[in-house]
Amino acid sequence: MRRPRHAKIVATLGPASGERQTIQALFNAGADVFRLNFSHGTHEDHKRRLDLIREVERDSGRPIGVLLDLQGPKLRIGTFPEGPIQLVEGKAFRLDLDTRTPGSAARVALPHPEIFAALEAGTELLLDDGRLRMRVETFGKDFADTRVVIGGRLSDRKGVNVPGVVLPLSALTEKDRADLAYGLQLGVDWVALSFVQRPEDIIEVRSIVDGRAGIVAKLEKPAAIASLDAILAETDAVMVARGDLGVEMPAEQVPSIQKRIVRACRRTGKPVIVATQMLESMVTAPVPTRAEASDVATAIYEGADAVMLSAESASGRYPVEAVKMMSSIITHTEGDPNYRAAIDASRAEPVARTADAIGLAMRDITGLLGAAATVAYTSSGYSALRMARERPRAPIIGMTPRLATARRLALAWGVHAVLCHEVVDVPEMSELACRTALREGFGASGQTVVISAGMPFGTSGTTNLLRIAQI
Ligand code: ATP
Ligand code: MG
Ligand code: MG
Repeated sequence: MRRPRHAKIVATLGPASGERQTIQALFNAGADVFRLNFSHGTHEDHKRRLDLIREVERDSGRPIGVLLDLQGPKLRIGTFPEGPIQLVEGKAFRLDLDTRTPGSAARVALPHPEIFAALEAGTELLLDDGRLRMRVETFGKDFADTRVVIGGRLSDRKGVNVPGVVLPLSALTEKDRADLAYGLQLGVDWVALSFVQRPEDIIEVRSIVDGRAGIVAKLEKPAAIASLDAILAETDAVMVARGDLGVEMPAEQVPSIQKRIVRACRRTGKPVIVATQMLESMVTAPVPTRAEASDVATAIYEGADAVMLSAESASGRYPVEAVKMMSSIITHTEGDPNYRAAIDASRAEPVARTADAIGLAMRDITGLLGAAATVAYTSSGYSALRMARERPRAPIIGMTPRLATARRLALAWGVHAVLCHEVVDVPEMSELACRTALREGFGASGQTVVISAGMPFGTSGTTNLLRIAQI
């Protein structure tokens, strides 16, 4: 099963997408990676969804990536057992520490004592990625009485931001540690760390993860943007988490920051996901706004590895349509002649390393010969990522004997990962590459494929061989 595009789609699973049938439909429509947001739902919910993803994977024969998103030190309100409420501009609303009393139209719990200690009269609180706003009038150590400034619908466990107020919270909460241990034991492929501020945050998670998953740094804090290069040096991938980023920083700065992050990631060859509100209106409507379609296309022109759906696929009314729409926007954008020009113009200089030299040569040869595909034999995934960094025209078949690598590569631009046995010599390598390209629908008899591998076979970090073969 071959996708008609290079860029990938990450779809968040939630109440709207918990059934086997829906997950299958999301996958068929184009979801390459599924995100389990541990900010919501129980461990059992997530386990059940992961089991269903693995069933779909087994039936389709295609490796699927699973990304566990850790909540991090995010402030969230409690719940409304009677259903979502409507906040009305100018009306009073109370936040307090009382988690036992169910939320109502007049109050809800905000179970974070540290926030009440940091308040002042006049402080503005932003809710649900900044969609709603309230101003603090009076407060004590366990409550705040506020006035609604921007109203709207408010549902369970929405996030609360207090821009400009620094709260003494660690990057990895107790809940995160428990979630991480649980997720790793389930066998997730990627772990996303929220509110990263310093490279040390990544180093700490890496010591716990210990190679069992790749690490995604969610960039959503001004401090993270300030130490972008240092964070990139530590992480395996990045998410431009525009929800909180657009609340922590002025919204008008988000587009230029997004561009900067995508460029930096392409320079370092680390996969980058652009996330949040991409097709937001599809939560309630079967078609997106023109501006949203344009937003997805912009990320694609910039060369992002993946674009993500949040509420659209987790709790919206049209999860499958949203994936279909995203997929067709990507396919159409990649088919635009200006796309190639934009991607080539923003390509980063290669680094003087063997894997890059091979990647560069593969890219040139592929273009010159009009090769049907490039094939990268890869153990850790590294050489496939270096290949993807060159953003070649032809698809990259990432051949790997490691299932974990194949699943992780589901996030990478242009990489179609295929699980294979260890090859022992060059003739077998060429033969298997050609057979795979043919079987997976990447080329026909007589067409050229360009293959890279490392000798001796089966040793990671040895990419040093380039071969041109005919199917
Ligand atoms: P984050 O800051 O990690 O993005 P979020 O609250 O914005 O957290 P998203 O994953 O972006 O969450 O999803 C958007 C909305 O979809 C959530 O606010 C929630 O209402 C709903 N949602 C997502 N996942 C789940 C889930 N597993 N269970 C229930 N609701 C969910
Ligand atoms: Mg979100
Ligand atoms: Mg967030």
